[in-house]
Amino acid sequence: MDFFSTFPFPLLKSSRSYRGVRNCFRDFWELIWSLFKPTGTCSNSVLRCYGCSALKAKSRKSRWTLVQSDLEALPIGIAPEEYTDLLRKDEATAHYHAELVTRYTSIPKHPWLLARFGMSAFLSGRAIARRFRSERTRALFAGLAAHSFLSLDEQLSGAMGMLMAVLAHAVGWPIPRGGSQSLTNALCRYLSTFESTLKTSSRVESLAALSNYDPILCDVTPRQLLEIGGARLSKSYRRQLASYRYGPGVFKVDYALNRPIPWKASECLRAATVHLGGSFEEIAAFEQVVRDGRHADHPFVLLAQPSLFDSSRAPEGKQTAWAYCHVPNGSNVDMLERLEKQIDRFAPGFRDCVLARRVFSPAHLEKMDANLVGGDIGGGAMDIRQFLFRPTWRHSATSARDIYICSSSTPPGGGVHGMCGYHAAKTALSKFGAR
Ligand SMILES: Cc1cc2nc3c(=O)[nH]c(=O)nc-3n(C[C@H](O)[C@H](O)[C@H](O)COP(=O)(O)OP(=O)(O)OC[C@H]3O[C@@H](n4cnc5c(N)ncnc54)[C@H](O)[C@@H]3O)c2cc1C
Repeated sequence: MDFFSTFPFPLLKSSRSYRGVRNCFRDFWELIWSLFKPTGTCSNSVLRCYGCSALKAKSRKSRWTLVQSDLEALPIGIAPEEYTDLLRKDEATAHYHAELVTRYTSIPKHPWLLARFGMSAFLSGRAIARRFRSERTRALFAGLAAHSFLSLDEQLSGAMGMLMAVLAHAVGWPIPRGGSQSLTNALCRYLSTFESTLKTSSRVESLAALSNYDPILCDVTPRQLLEIGGARLSKSYRRQLASYRYGPGVFKVDYALNRPIPWKASECLRAATVHLGGSFEEIAAFEQVVRDGRHADHPFVLLAQPSLFDSSRAPEGKQTAWAYCHVPNGSNVDMLERLEKQIDRFAPGFRDCVLARRVFSPAHLEKMDANLVGGDIGGGAMDIRQFLFRPTWRHSATSARDIYICSSSTPPGGGVHGMCGYHAAKTALSKFGAR
């Protein structure tokens, strides 16, 4: 097995772009891919064996609503019966999680639980939020549903809200100790136990160069597959790939801070991930504007403050944070002022804490990682069509017997869960008669 990656990882220190970040942030640890990984918990056991541990970030917030993973300890400000009734709890919650993340393309183990979930999940975020009497619950749900990158009036935006809520209670929203690089390191250590080589800084320009490999699993989105493998694919399959649609992008800022963020609500310091948006209506209005291809003044901001929970992320006494807001795909509008104004609204004096910041426009992100087409971090829009046929009805398979796609442009879509690769590997193995 050989692996090719455009990234210089895991040889971080030899990377020029990485050194740039290090210089900017001095001793602040790598931030770019420092994410929360609720969806990754299914592969946790392997990663734990190879030295990556998750810190269970217990809580998240939206308009002063704090969610703890223990459903018994109800989210502060949420009307208990309507929220727990929607999510159900205990075993059922864990089953939803397992079903949704791991069994997307196979026969469900718990069809009734899945069907019960599906009855709610196919609704729009707004339709589900109508069930909540409390404005705080509605605001919380808006933030969760906004992870879909859809308008909150679109079908399936509710599914993402439900999924994020279920994960928050089933497994929390953990963050990897040491940042996302520790996931890559753990995977590389695991790989080294097989007969395999990892070739970093090696962009694959054409699949023709890999003619002695069989099968080839491509961690790319349809646009790139067309570029590097177009000649190997049938005409009709190429047409299907060309019609694949990408979702909105993100405008992201990494921060080195001289102290914790001065939240108006000190409970925010108990949350690794904070949603800043105000009410359901504010968040819904912003997401609609983005879906319409425009930019609004009051973005919905997703902010993470990992160093509060992981001391390895910043020098003693200092903090790190990152934040992003959604923007139309490929946007080149500078959202920094608007994004920081929104943080300042909930944490007056925030800008005084900033020691250094690094801004990533959608174009910057795509330059770093070709999969982030136009800044889309989910590998393509997750509307009904692309939920069912992602990227085509063939899912990970392509029109060529030996070529497979294993990126987030295949089921179950974006997120650090590893399941796209898992499904692609299973498909390839089954085609080649192995198990
Ligand atoms: C800023 C940001 C925040 C995010 N936050 C979260 C979060 O909190 N939780 C979560 O679950 N998910 C999060 N995501 C989303 C998650 O990272 C992606 O959905 C996931 O990584 C997609 O996986 P992938 O395999 O499709 O692509 P990637 O992880 O992008 O991997 C693709 C790899 O292929 C390489 N590549 C591309 N083309 C070539 C080529 N021609 N030759 C060789 N190598 C190539 C790329 O360089 C890259 O290394 C975030 C993403 C971003 C950018």
